[in-house]
Amino acid sequence: MHEIGGNTRVLGVIGNPVRHTMSPKIHNFLTERLGQDMVYLPFEVHGDVIQAVGGAYELGIVGMNVTVPYKSAVMEAVSETDAEACRIGAVNTLVRTDTGYKGYNTDVIGLRRELQEAGVTLAGEQVVILGAGGAARATAMMCAADGVSTLCILNRNREKAEELAAAVRACMLQKDTASGMYIQALGLEEYEQLQGKEHIVFQCTSVGLSPWEDEAVIEARTFYQKLKCAVDLIYTPRQTKFMKLAEHEGVRAMNGSKMLVYQAIASYELWNGMTIPEQIVNELLGYLTEEGLIG
Ligand code: NAP
Repeated sequence: MHEIGGNTRVLGVIGNPVRHTMSPKIHNFLTERLGQDMVYLPFEVHGDVIQAVGGAYELGIVGMNVTVPYKSAVMEAVSETDAEACRIGAVNTLVRTDTGYKGYNTDVIGLRRELQEAGVTLAGEQVVILGAGGAARATAMMCAADGVSTLCILNRNREKAEELAAAVRACMLQKDTASGMYIQALGLEEYEQLQGKEHIVFQCTSVGLSPWEDEAVIEARTFYQKLKCAVDLIYTPRQTKFMKLAEHEGVRAMNGSKMLVYQAIASYELWNGMTIPEQIVNELLGYLTEEGLIG
C-alpha cells in the first residue's frame, strides 16, 4: 500500500451499516493501480447525516459515496444536484466543489453496464420491479428511459409503489419519453395479476441480504414461472435465495456485484476527472473474483 502523507486525498463511503462494504477494496485497488495519492475509508454514520456531510466538507474530504439509508436524505446536504440524480430522487456520489458537494447518482450507470455486458436489453420488454426504495426508483427511471413496454412495481407497502409509479409517469411527461408504456403498482401479494411468462424482474428490496440469506421477498414458484430473467441488486450473498428460486424454474439469474463495481468506477471517474482504461477495469474484476467477492 502506498504511503499516506499530509497531501493524501481522503474519500469514503457513508451509510449505516457500512462494515460489510466492498467499496474500499475497489477504490483502494484503483488508487494503487493508477498510482494516485488517495485513500478511501468507510464511515458509519449514527447521528445526523446532514451534519456528517457538513463535517466531512470542513475536514477537506474530496468525495464520498452514500449508501443505505442516506441516499435520499443526503440531497438536503448538497449545494447542487446533477439532473439524473434529481430525477431519481437519490444521490450515491458526492463530489467536492468550491461551494459544497455536488450530488450524482451512478447506480443507473452501473446497472446499465452490467445488463449491457450480460446482453440484456430492456426496450419493449415487460419489467417487474420488487421494492419501491432508492434502488427501485433508480431502476424504474432507467426502465422508463429505455422504453420498456410494461412496468409493474410491487412493494410490501403498496402506497409507496403507487408513489413511485406516479413519479415515473411524471418524469415521462416531463421528458415526453416512453409514451405508451403501461405502469402498474401492486402489493407484493398481488403478483398473480402479472400477465404472461416473459418478465424481466429486478429484485430491489433488502430481503435476502446477508445475514438474512434464507429469505426471498416472494417465494411462490408460480411467481418465478412468469419470468425469463431475474436480476437481484443484492451482491452478498453471491447467490441469493431469490436467484436460487428463479434458477430452479430454469430462469436466468444474476446478482448486483457487477453493478456495484461499475457504479464505483463511475464515481471514481467523477472524483478524478478521468476514464479508467478497460485493461484496469478487467484487472479489478479479476482481483475481486480472486478474492471471492464477485462472481
Ligand atoms: P431502501 O430505500 O431502504 O428500500 C428498501 C426496500 O426493501 C423497500 O421497498 C422496502 O419495502 C423493502 N423491504 C425491506 N424489508 C422488507 C421485508 N421484510 N419484506 C418486504 N419488503 C421489504 O433500500 P435501497 O437503497 O433501495 O436498497 C435496496 C437493496 O438494493 C439493498 O439490498 C442494497 O444493498 C441493494 N443495492 C445494490 C446496489 C448495487 O450496486 N448492487 C446499489 C443500490 C442498492 P417497504 O417500502 O414496504 O418498507
